[in-house]
Amino acid sequence: MKYIILVGDGMGDLPLSSLDSRTPLEAANTPTMDNLCRQGELFRLQTIPPGMPPGSDIANLSLLGYEPQDFYTGRAPLEAVSMGIELAEGETAYRCNLVNLEKNGPDSLIMVDFSAGHISTAESTIIVNELQRQLGSDLFRFYPGISYRHLMISKNSLANLVTVPPHDYTGRNVALYWERYLQYPELQNMLETAWKLLENHPVNKKRLQNGELTANSIWLWGEGKAPVMPTIEEQFGLQGSLISAVDLLKGIGIYGGLDIIKVEGATGYLDTNYGGKAAAALAALEHQDFVFVHVEAPDEAGHQGSLPDKIRAIEDFDSKIVKPIFAGLQTMENNTDFRLVVCMDHLTPISTRTHSDQPVPVLLYDSRQQGVQSGLSYSEKSAEKTDVLLASGRNFFNKLLQRDGETP
Ligand SMILES: [Zn+2]
Repeated sequence: MKYIILVGDGMGDLPLSSLDSRTPLEAANTPTMDNLCRQGELFRLQTIPPGMPPGSDIANLSLLGYEPQDFYTGRAPLEAVSMGIELAEGETAYRCNLVNLEKNGPDSLIMVDFSAGHISTAESTIIVNELQRQLGSDLFRFYPGISYRHLMISKNSLANLVTVPPHDYTGRNVALYWERYLQYPELQNMLETAWKLLENHPVNKKRLQNGELTANSIWLWGEGKAPVMPTIEEQFGLQGSLISAVDLLKGIGIYGGLDIIKVEGATGYLDTNYGGKAAAALAALEHQDFVFVHVEAPDEAGHQGSLPDKIRAIEDFDSKIVKPIFAGLQTMENNTDFRLVVCMDHLTPISTRTHSDQPVPVLLYDSRQQGVQSGLSYSEKSAEKTDVLLASGRNFFNKLLQRDGETP
């Protein structure tokens, strides 16, 4: 038996008046997901445990069978491990976004863009390496990642610093949160120097000339120390692979004991190499029983509040990920049976441009056509009709592996 989980990050949404009260997922043309859903089971899953923040880190831990309340220490340490960065005892990892802030004065600091205009990796690598050269020290180390997503490791724990994710504050005044950093003298010093350095940086001057947003500040968030967690094999006896463009997901995969498959041209955005991801998933299933494929683009479109991009991202996910993987599974050697999940980690509604913690719709297709056939298309509203709500990632994995009877 093969097990496949296909995740459209942030694909869920709320009904929009511009779509006659439909969601982007309902409005998008998604024939493969809808067919699989009609012939499969449909249910809802609470990926965000009550009281925890609705992030992709926590939600994807749930989609990999974990109960995040037991293992989650923060987002940045998961990203660190995927970048090959070891955290020493006592060290804390921070996500270090390159952002664009509109600096109007001490009381007005607007988060224009949490991604510095989706700055390219080539540009951001130059900037972050420069930050390390000029500001790296015993206390702080900077590591370049992909696009706007980078890391800073702090030797001190900066106790009691409460940070906020910049994508939750797009277009909003973040002066209050910036103030929090400045309460730590070592951090204040570093951030102010970084500010000056970025202001005059050649990469930013060039971006300005090209009419692009500059990376005029860093934003620290998602902090945590290294987590201690069992692998998926230890928990469920399953070995497999994970495919994602996003360091966070790769980090979860590494802690989960999965093989991380690198796909050339996987960008985490609309221009990602869908074909390469689908082919890599099918190749992995030739020698493994489990594969987890994560596609970031719908979430990015949700954060940008772009309805056309979100619909396109969902349609691409259907036609370029779900469709070819399903087709490939059907023609696998020896007619291998499979259980295929299509889901999302959380909603990223266009209207709020940030994540929400509602349960997500999950479709589960069994090649043996066992069990219930929902008869419903794949959407948020359809899933509500089914009245099945799983409370945790562990419940979800027990269902996927048909261990429903086992007590956790
Ligand atoms: Zn997101």
